[in-house]
Amino acid sequence: MTAAAHDDDKEVGRAYDAQLMRRLWAYVRPHARLLALALATLPVVTTLGLVQPYLFRRAIDENVTPRRLDGLLLLGALYLGALIAEYLVRYAHLVVLQDLGLRAINHLRRDLYRHVFSLRAAFFDREPVGRLMTRLTNDVESINEAFTAGLVTLVGDVVLLVGIVIAMLLQDVTLTLFALASSPLLFLAALVFRRLLRGAYREIRRKIARINGFLQEHVTGMKVVQLFGRERESAARFDLLNAEHRDANYSAIAWDATLFATVETLGSLATAAIVWWGGGQIVQGALTFGLLTAFIQYLDRFFVPIRDLSTKFTVMQQAMASCERIFHLLDVDEPDAPVTAAAASGAAATASAPFVEIDHVSFAYRPGQEVLHDVSLRIARGHTIAVVGATGAGKSTLVRLLTRLYEPTAGEIRLGGRPLRSIARDEARRRVVVVPQDVFLFSGSVRDNVTLWNAALPEAKLRQAAERVGLLRALERRGRTLDDRVGERGGTLSAGERQLVAFARALARDPEVLVLDEATASVDPETERLIEQGTAEIQRGRTSILIAHRLSTIERADAIVVLHKGCLVEQGTHAELVARAGIYARLYQLQRVAPADAAAGE
Ligand code: ADP
Repeated sequence: MTAAAHDDDKEVGRAYDAQLMRRLWAYVRPHARLLALALATLPVVTTLGLVQPYLFRRAIDENVTPRRLDGLLLLGALYLGALIAEYLVRYAHLVVLQDLGLRAINHLRRDLYRHVFSLRAAFFDREPVGRLMTRLTNDVESINEAFTAGLVTLVGDVVLLVGIVIAMLLQDVTLTLFALASSPLLFLAALVFRRLLRGAYREIRRKIARINGFLQEHVTGMKVVQLFGRERESAARFDLLNAEHRDANYSAIAWDATLFATVETLGSLATAAIVWWGGGQIVQGALTFGLLTAFIQYLDRFFVPIRDLSTKFTVMQQAMASCERIFHLLDVDEPDAPVTAAAASGAAATASAPFVEIDHVSFAYRPGQEVLHDVSLRIARGHTIAVVGATGAGKSTLVRLLTRLYEPTAGEIRLGGRPLRSIARDEARRRVVVVPQDVFLFSGSVRDNVTLWNAALPEAKLRQAAERVGLLRALERRGRTLDDRVGERGGTLSAGERQLVAFARALARDPEVLVLDEATASVDPETERLIEQGTAEIQRGRTSILIAHRLSTIERADAIVVLHKGCLVEQGTHAELVARAGIYARLYQLQRVAPADAAAGE
């Protein structure tokens, strides 16, 4: 089961939690006027609704029974007026309520998005993407429902119930007592069924979460499923989950229908009771026919909110659970490297000083599990070094430290003589740009993918970058331009073209230090040539660190360093290292024997 499903299994039982409400209130407060307006319309809607049976009663008692037409038109007009007014005010109420909900939710989602993007990389190592997606979509939506279908509506229901009782009491106390004799039973039934339904709904959500988790994984891994011919098995597993979901729904439907029937039956019994007793009173002349009719209508209106109570409670419960999860995420306090760092300290940069200095750096993702041990490295301005080593040696980790995605556990990295730690995150990431191994393309045009929606990037610079890395040529050859769309995740571009987009993306930023994590995948000779040229072009005259797999790249570097199990074991030029007959020489031999398997040591 995926983590997202696992997380959604957790339930919060309460439909109301004062602390969560207080935090949610912060999002509603800016729109307190809307809330006040929505609440103010409630008694109006209720009064307009409850005046209708009263007008009905007057029409029957004053016109129908005595067979008099005088004033009937007026009563009719009043009735129609109340009806229309009720609908209009109700309409306004709903619009205001939705507006309020949408505004608050919009704000919440905005905060959540910004917060998630402000978190440090280590947080995303732990938190599955699916779960974050759920927070930003389903959970926020469920709070929206709490606004529109939950809390205010519940208040509205209470106002209505109280209003009905008052209206009845004002007209006939004994008949009211008779009519409401069964209501304690009704509340009891609503309470009992609420519990039963809660369990059933929880089960449905659990199953839905499983279906979502399954779909997420299998749609993402679609190619694997298809290539290995596992469609049938995958479908069978899905059918099972789907059937479980259906069965979970059955029990909810069963309880819901039972509740509905119970309320209806109790309602009919109550109506029968007042008709029976009221009928007798009418015959004795103690009660009018109009009053009885009005009471029957009041009773009708009385049962509806009680019947819906359980559904509304469920909505509230879900909203509270979502609220808790969202605020939990908002409470995660693991900020990314600070945007504005403390005043620059350390030695001032001098032209002759090594530009990038990695000084006795150690690093552990988890305490006690060091993956880099005391690595020291100096790179002169404009020089290129190639880092080689087997998978898991710590090459990518080194890159992450250079961009401040993580901070060294010990030691220091300096850029132009300044500790990286003292350079603001934004500045550091502007000066050190990484071309990662997996090129991630966003849906949009090639241009968007190069500029990453940076409108401030001059067109000339963009074109120059695209030209230099050979992207323009590669596109033109296939009759495309920078404005062509790349399709979802770059589906319409070849592996080579995607690499070139990544090169152009880096070059357009004109960084002082370029870190290139070379892709290990073998490509055709033509693409190989394109990538080779692109690689040479972006590192020209620039301080570069290449996590290198291609022999051509490695040989061209000013120096080569070999990482082995987190330690820097060899350092020197290609010729020096070959002569030394150590790890590098072995990797080099391997590569020469099987050049197609481009990954050094993999
Ligand atoms: P390379 O890039 O040389 O293949 P990495 O830097 O990716 O090596 O990995 C070095 C070590 O750190 C490996 O043992 C790997 O399992 C571990 N590692 C990499 N990323 C993480 C992470 N996000 N959390 C915990 N351990 C990690």
